[in-house]
Amino acid sequence: MPDRYAVIGNPVAHSKSPLIHAAFARATGQAMSYERLLAPLDGFAAAAKRFASEGGMGLNVTAPFKLDAFALATEKSARARSAGACNTLAWRGSHWFGDNTDGAGLIHDLMHNLGVAISGRDVLIFGAGGAARGILGPLLAETPRRVVVVNRTQSKADELAAHFAAHGNIAATPTGALGGGRFDIVINATSIGLQDTDGAGVWAAGVFAPGALAYDLVYADAPTPFARWASANGAARTADGLGMLIEQAAESFLLWRGVRPDSRPLFPLLRPV
Ligand code: NAP
Repeated sequence: MPDRYAVIGNPVAHSKSPLIHAAFARATGQAMSYERLLAPLDGFAAAAKRFASEGGMGLNVTAPFKLDAFALATEKSARARSAGACNTLAWRGSHWFGDNTDGAGLIHDLMHNLGVAISGRDVLIFGAGGAARGILGPLLAETPRRVVVVNRTQSKADELAAHFAAHGNIAATPTGALGGGRFDIVINATSIGLQDTDGAGVWAAGVFAPGALAYDLVYADAPTPFARWASANGAARTADGLGMLIEQAAESFLLWRGVRPDSRPLFPLLRPV
């Protein structure tokens, strides 16, 4: 019997994780199966427990269960504790070990796939939800010159800045108070997503430094609304979150199987040109 893994969420039918992990398993010669697990909105812990009792060894956790996964894991990595959420669970024989690979996935995509230096750079993040919290620890570990968080609900940006203050130069600023500041990397971590929008007053114009990258955590086959807005407002380059998705999966695979698969073949598979 191959070792059993799954992605758990609600909804989960859209998830690309089975395709990604099947490709990783083939490429690394690992005997494992990977399925989709739809859990009831109030039934995450029970579904994870049942999966473990049936021999399940690891779970990727997607919306809306990342906080439930954090609560379920009795042992956690430092990056999961810093994020306050888990997107990966590994069964350790008697309990779940919780990790968060989202931030590491983003950093790998920025530095290795897109060739962007973070150290000494100015970084702006739109959004202060779970994804922003997950990426801030790994981002600050790369020693940017400063990170500024802008969010619709100012108190949440303030909370994040306070939470990560010991990890680097981070501030929360209202959109209107950016004061002409220019940034080398501008990340959309809001869930505005694929709705056609101008950023609901959060995406501030005039923030892109020469050569700046605009990075959207959302991914799509066509340029996202954020990418279109950023191009029209002075970003030199844009990227979406497909690379982050692939790289967070590679980090989960590494945790489970002890080998980090080559992620490059996944890009043409998931986004044929
Ligand atoms: P979340 O916890 O629900 O946070 C949502 C954030 O978006 C909050 O900051 C919220 O502001 C803001 N927001 C929502 N609607 C808005 C609007 N109409 N105008 C302005 N701001 C708005 O969501 P999340 O888990 O952080 O996820 C954020 C995005 O990242 C999602 O699209 C998700 O799919 C994506 N993501 C991608 C990857 C990947 O691998 N590529 C991984 C993780 C997440 P308030 O605080 O004011 O409500």
